Amino acid sequence: MTPEEARRLAQEASDEIRALTQALIRTPSPNPPGREQAVAEVLKEKFLAAGLSAELVSLEEGRANVISRLPGRGQAPALLYAGHLDTVPPGETAAWTHDPYGGELSDGRLYGRGASDMKGGVAAQAMAAVLARRAGLTPAGDLIFVATCGEETDSLGAHAFRHAGGLDGVGGVVIAEPSANELFIAEKGALWLEVTTYGRTAHGSMPHLGINAVWKMHKVLSALADFQPSEERHPLLGRATVSLGTLNGGFKTNVVPDRATATFDMRTVPGRPHAEIVALVQERLDRLAAADPEFKAEVKVIKDLPSVATAADEPIVRLARRVGHDLWDRDLLPQGVNYYTDAAVLLPEGKIPFFIFGPGQPALAHQPEEYVEIEKLVEATAFFLLFLARWGERA
Ligand SMILES: [Zn+2]
Repeated sequence: MTPEEARRLAQEASDEIRALTQALIRTPSPNPPGREQAVAEVLKEKFLAAGLSAELVSLEEGRANVISRLPGRGQAPALLYAGHLDTVPPGETAAWTHDPYGGELSDGRLYGRGASDMKGGVAAQAMAAVLARRAGLTPAGDLIFVATCGEETDSLGAHAFRHAGGLDGVGGVVIAEPSANELFIAEKGALWLEVTTYGRTAHGSMPHLGINAVWKMHKVLSALADFQPSEERHPLLGRATVSLGTLNGGFKTNVVPDRATATFDMRTVPGRPHAEIVALVQERLDRLAAADPEFKAEVKVIKDLPSVATAADEPIVRLARRVGHDLWDRDLLPQGVNYYTDAAVLLPEGKIPFFIFGPGQPALAHQPEEYVEIEKLVEATAFFLLFLARWGERA
């Protein structure tokens, strides 16, 4: 397939790409609660109508992944196109001038929750599979398409897909999260910690009889104020960050609090394993305990997704850049992103190279008035189509 053909096929399918994106937006799947099965069914029907296989994998009541496969010639490992079916909830509807589930078209933009993150990306990948099938394309390796449930919370669908052997034989993964059709090859990890301090209640008029867990938490916050998860500076991701997210303690002014909790959102870069970072935090708490016999604290990991990155000289990255060059004469310079994706669950050991490329705008994810541009949807479809056609070629 030539770049001209890929561009033409995507352009001619522009109404169909728009219609599929609208159908996905008009089938709400806010998570929580995440009732993604209805969206999975829209995709299943689309694949079946195009003569592709389609399988719903039910995981919980109303929750499912959808998987489709376009068989290849067996001359290259499989290529995985991956996305997620759920969205964050719409939030304050007053902040929207468009119906979050309307899929309204205005000035070349499709509005709705999930338009950017990432029903637009899912539609573009699905349409690339459909167009490849219609064009009679047999790729060098199988194309596997998966859209998962639960990405916005616990990555339920990605865990299930991986544990069912979904990555067996896969040699590359393309995730259609919003990148404004730029090339992202590294993402930060997320390590969320909950620290709890313990004390002893007493009447507020006799504080010396109690142990104040909030004052103990004050010590924790001071000890962690300058905490750096690692010294590494990644060329694309920069440095790790720490954000103190929540702070809770006490329930009544006249009661000495016996418990306080704080949660920390750390965004990490490749290098230091998360277990080592947790140990460093524990070390600081141990030092406080050594200096204060009444100090008692506990640290708990509440989210643990490693940073994952593909080297810029991997063939998959070179191929993506060549496809961008041949389609639009554009150099897709590899970049890094702060957000995490299902890649952290699918590829935690970094053994399978991946990149992120999608038509959505990263800045619009989780925002009111979320939209995706039709032009970007069509461009992304052409990209996924040509990338598939060239998969297995030396780039
Ligand atoms: Zn997303």
